[in-house]
Amino acid sequence: MFALRRHELALYIEADIWHGRNDIVHAFGTRWCGDTVRSAGGNINGEDDYSAARRMADILGTPSGQVITAIQVHGDDILMLDGTDADTVRRLTGDGLVTNRPGVAVGIRTADCVPLLMFDQRRRVIGAIHAGWKGAALDIAGKAVGVFAERFLSNPLDIQAVVGPSVGQCCYEVGPEVVRAMSHHTWSDGLFDPGRPDGRRMLDLGRAVTRQLVDEGLDPANIVTIPLCTSCRDDLFYSHRGEGGRTGRQISAIMLRE
Ligand SMILES: [Zn+2]
Repeated sequence: MFALRRHELALYIEADIWHGRNDIVHAFGTRWCGDTVRSAGGNINGEDDYSAARRMADILGTPSGQVITAIQVHGDDILMLDGTDADTVRRLTGDGLVTNRPGVAVGIRTADCVPLLMFDQRRRVIGAIHAGWKGAALDIAGKAVGVFAERFLSNPLDIQAVVGPSVGQCCYEVGPEVVRAMSHHTWSDGLFDPGRPDGRRMLDLGRAVTRQLVDEGLDPANIVTIPLCTSCRDDLFYSHRGEGGRTGRQISAIMLRE
């Protein structure tokens, strides 16, 4: 299903469905992608974040040595990269990046939120989407499928998606505002762990994203979930929950090869 791989000193995760392809390359970052080893207290825009982005560019072999990321705001704006230069995108806000430009790596930063990578092999389009509960409540994964379809005439049945490591239902207790926001959607059945004796509501964020994709027409056989909880596995991942809110971000990214 997936493999933990090493590039020099950096550890990353690769989904088997995209391993060894000659048309795309991708990686889900871990906390072991930066130059420095940190236990907590990371500055998300600091030196180590910069080095993690550079290391991810090395892992992917990007021609520019860059991974393009936007300023994430837990919204549902999805940015198109169609000739826009990297430095401009870096100053834009958005929680998803989509492009059909070869040699351009699009990435997102996460610590517990879902890093979702998408690929339409027929139309040769890729996307990197950031989905926390707010983005999920806004149906950001479904909207990403809409962007593929409207801008690139993708058939959802051609789109593959990998739901990367995020906080699992085991560790994601949420309050009533989250329960309210996630309810009443067509994709909202079964997102919460039912029947817990302690009454806690545990959200399955990865399932929400998966169901949004299926609702928009993806074949469930084309959706892979990496079953690693960032909070349980805070030896591997930065985790907002697992580390009391002060932590770094791992970068995950995808690129069409030139
Ligand atoms: Zn967990």
